[in-house]
Amino acid sequence: MTVPVTLASFVDISETLFGAGNKRTIIQLRWVVILASSSLLASTNNLPGAPLVYAFALFHILTNASLYFLQQQTIISHRVFSILIILDTLALTFSLIVTGNVGSDLYLCYFLVIIIAAFWQDIRWSLTFALIISLVYGSFLFIAEKYDTELLLRIPFLFIASLFYGYFTQLIGYERSRREKAESEARKDFLTSLANRKAFDEQMTLERERARRFSRPLSLLMVDIDNFKAVNDSLGHEWGDNVLRMVARTIATTIRQTDFAARYGGEEFVVILPETEVDDALRVGDRIRVAVRENPIDTPRGLLLITVSIGASSNRTTTSDRSLDGEADQALYLAKRRGKDRVERFSDIA
Ligand code: GH3
Ligand code: MG
Ligand code: MG
Repeated sequence: MTVPVTLASFVDISETLFGAGNKRTIIQLRWVVILASSSLLASTNNLPGAPLVYAFALFHILTNASLYFLQQQTIISHRVFSILIILDTLALTFSLIVTGNVGSDLYLCYFLVIIIAAFWQDIRWSLTFALIISLVYGSFLFIAEKYDTELLLRIPFLFIASLFYGYFTQLIGYERSRREKAESEARKDFLTSLANRKAFDEQMTLERERARRFSRPLSLLMVDIDNFKAVNDSLGHEWGDNVLRMVARTIATTIRQTDFAARYGGEEFVVILPETEVDDALRVGDRIRVAVRENPIDTPRGLLLITVSIGASSNRTTTSDRSLDGEADQALYLAKRRGKDRVERFSDIA
């Protein structure tokens, strides 16, 4: 198996396991730390340390409970987590010391702390914690005067493990963002950065269904640049492309955030207007028309006035079972026939 394929499957696994996101993951992992380390500590410890073991467990339970509360309020910052992880490390080490377990296998609990740190998806975090843990554990071995090679070897081992987890989660993070990028690129028109035809088709299906289901108005605008061929012919394709970008930008900045603009193909654009009656759609269309007109392009041959013709259709005024695209296209044809640089609605034809 190639590395990317392996990584991709790890992304799947990690998303299935930890799909809720980093904060939840860290809280869940901290519960594992509590359960694992306090039961291990309790089972191996001799009485003097017992209250401290309970204090350790109590500390975790209380902080985790408050984390759950804070998470609901969505006010958790990374800083809160980093302090907690440092406290985890210190509390664990402290418990190991007071229960006289420095040399026992309980040090394995550090790996859980490392995993928590690594789930930040940032190798700097893992490195920092690798250092903190190695230093803390190393100095306690030193204080306890435990110098066996086997124990000392745990320090580089912990360090290497931190590096490994950090690097691994970093790779998973890269793979995830690469995938997200590829997914969004596939729905984007490379020239204008608007949504492409594929994204439009998906969105239109969704909006049409929503409008039908809840009996809501839905309108569509089809925008076509007037005499665009002349721009290409006289100034060249590069200027044609500039015009396309300007019109796309103008449309995108004129409509509402809940509207959806896409490049339908060539020099045609579409705008989906949810919750919009045809009269309002005509108003939006006219805003776009005027905005494009007011944005002449500065070319080597002087200012180039660009106009668009727009056709509007709406599910409320539809007179046939034709699609909204088809009706908007017919309205657009009418706008062209009536002299361009204007907005028409489909129902005017019928
Ligand atoms: P009308 O006013 O009737 O719309 O005339 P028009 O010239 O705009 O329309 P027509 O459909 O005849 O021409 C569209 C032209 O758009 C044809 C093609 O050369 C050009 N075109 C299509 N896609 C692109 C593109 O991505 N970049 C550039 N530069 N030109 C394009
Ligand atoms: Mg045109
Ligand atoms: Mg055209």
